[in-house]
Amino acid sequence: MSHPEVGERLASIKHVVLVLSGKGGVGKSSCTVQLALSLASQGRKVGVLDIDLCGPSIPRMLGLDGQQIHQATAGWKRLACMSIGFLLPDKNASVVWRGPKKNAMIKQFLTDVYWGDLDYLLIDTPPGTSDEHLAVVEYLQEWSPDGAVIITTPQAVALTDVKKEINFCHKVGLPVLGLIENMSGFVCPHCSECTNVFSTGGGEGLAGHMEIPFLGRAPIDPNLVMLLERPSKRLLSIVETYERCELSKIFKGICERLDE
Ligand code: ADP
Repeated sequence: MSHPEVGERLASIKHVVLVLSGKGGVGKSSCTVQLALSLASQGRKVGVLDIDLCGPSIPRMLGLDGQQIHQATAGWKRLACMSIGFLLPDKNASVVWRGPKKNAMIKQFLTDVYWGDLDYLLIDTPPGTSDEHLAVVEYLQEWSPDGAVIITTPQAVALTDVKKEINFCHKVGLPVLGLIENMSGFVCPHCSECTNVFSTGGGEGLAGHMEIPFLGRAPIDPNLVMLLERPSKRLLSIVETYERCELSKIFKGICERLDE
């Protein structure tokens, strides 16, 4: 089925990138936020669309919890965000919807949100390959998104699900832009020794095996946890605090690779 209205609405957006993960809790939303902040701090106009309808966490991570509908412009650092979290009556309200209602919501996000000119629209998805993924891929079919960035942690249990995610992308014709290995080791702030809490290197090995680009590995960073748990209410402060995180350097490198 053709969806020209989606193409019309997204015509002023240069790149659309989906962020996927096989499992929950591997840091997919955190990586979406980091990619968005890194791109914004490099002067790009960025939008984040959160289609994790049952567990939206982007508004909280961006310090936008409790706001209704948000679009922010802060000088040249610009970041806009849309999530079902802005539409719920309260933050504890649960979304108990079957596929057709989820599809309708995603279509509405893609046709009714005014993003303006954007360099990047990052779409944060729920874990796995479910209704939300199928819906967004179908609606974006003619627009042809740039592709998907897949997030994983390095341990074998998470990697098995990543293979399914990569196969899903192949099946629906979505290019895989690359794999990020998140929570890859913890560097002790006192003795600087690195502990590989969830093992390490598995993501890079899998990327090689599946012949997809490996975008980089990001360690466990307690500063990131603090930033995401209690973000400032001011977007500029979030961007500035984020720039002091070690991880921001890694994600800036990843963004440069996305740009190529
Ligand atoms: P997902 O979207 O995959 O379910 P989240 O992005 O919500 O996962 O991350 C789960 C938790 O892990 C969050 O509390 C987040 O702050 C934390 N987290 C993610 N990546 C890192 C990291 N590199 N260092 C430290 N904490 C992280």
